[in-house]
Amino acid sequence: MPKTIAAFATPSATSKLGPVSIKRRDPGPRDVEIEILFCGVCHSDLHFARNEWGMTLYPCVPGHEIIGRVTRVGAQVKGFKPGSMAGVGCLVDSCRDCPSCREGLENYCEGGMVLTYGSPDKHGTEPLTCGGYSTSITVDQDFVLRVSDRLDPAAAAPLLCAGITTYSPLRHWRVGKGTRVGVVGLGGLGHMGVKLARAMGAQVVLFTTSPGKAEDARRLGAHEVVISKDASAMEARANSLDFILNTVAAAHDLNPFVNALRRDGTMCLVGAPDRPHPPVQVMPMIFKRRAVAGSLIGGLKQTQEMLDFCAEHGIVSDIERIPMQKINEAYERMLKGDVRYRFVIDLASLRG
Ligand code: NAP
Ligand code: ZN
Ligand code: ZN
Repeated sequence: MPKTIAAFATPSATSKLGPVSIKRRDPGPRDVEIEILFCGVCHSDLHFARNEWGMTLYPCVPGHEIIGRVTRVGAQVKGFKPGSMAGVGCLVDSCRDCPSCREGLENYCEGGMVLTYGSPDKHGTEPLTCGGYSTSITVDQDFVLRVSDRLDPAAAAPLLCAGITTYSPLRHWRVGKGTRVGVVGLGGLGHMGVKLARAMGAQVVLFTTSPGKAEDARRLGAHEVVISKDASAMEARANSLDFILNTVAAAHDLNPFVNALRRDGTMCLVGAPDRPHPPVQVMPMIFKRRAVAGSLIGGLKQTQEMLDFCAEHGIVSDIERIPMQKINEAYERMLKGDVRYRFVIDLASLRG
């Protein structure tokens, strides 16, 4: 019998989130049931809840930075037992058969990946998958991550999206000792990008529109801070960086950042605004063989690698804990850039 649990959902793009009841399936032979302790608040939750990408089906229960404790496991489950800490990120299933899945890149599945929220629910317990703004979740073991007891569970929750989304491109573009890396935007993703790039040995320059964040940026690991609204400060950075990770959640002029790349440099966009950026000039790319690229979260194997890397280096998110009931306020503050640097929902607030 599916069990009924408490969650927060929105019924439409223009509604606020509020309390609802949803159903979770009993664990099947390969399933892990997790009592959710904490869930990070990603800017993607806000884009999605408000249908800013034009693909949301309702009702929507967001949340894909999930940390909890295993409560039950199916007979064939290996590696998890009741009481273990576990994490769930942006995916709960994929086709498992396409070239990307076979390479461990389920995040680029060509045959139908199942998002943690908002995808048709294969199991039919609910019409759509429901995310971590809820007290429990049941997930196939292949999509559950092991989380070290050494990490604070609340501060580790954002690793499941903000962590892997920044770790994956840093690895793909081979950031390491001596690489000159720019990180654009000091929000949830950006502050993880700074910490991870620094831990990988890079020289890190943080670009921000918020002068008030400069001191934090240095504390988080940036060697230098540039105020991106200052045209002369941007010009002074021309031709200086090997790689730029752009995490900005809004449309903005990319050209000053392209200009900051050296010959053969790449800027990877991970920020996913609701509208296009202004056009990127072609000549500055041609004349220095520069590239503008994109990247989507990361595969399950690399997500585990990232969690292990963070456990080894003692890396977690800087967070502000909130009760579930403050989520609408948190969204408004996130839009103003008023979060240092990730809201994390304490699901004890929904357990009553
Ligand atoms: P966030 O915490 O709100 O941070 C975004 C940062 O962007 C802000 O802190 C701010 O940094 C900067 N910013 C916001 N509005 C701006 C504007 N109008 N002009 C210039 N800078 C602005 O968001 P997040 O959770 O890190 O997510 C960032 C983006 O990545 C979102 O679009 C999200 O959907 C996307 N995302 C993508 C993936 C993926 O797989 N590609 C995964 C997760 C999230 P400063 O104050 O420092 O300027
Ligand atoms: Zn996310
Ligand atoms: Zn696939």
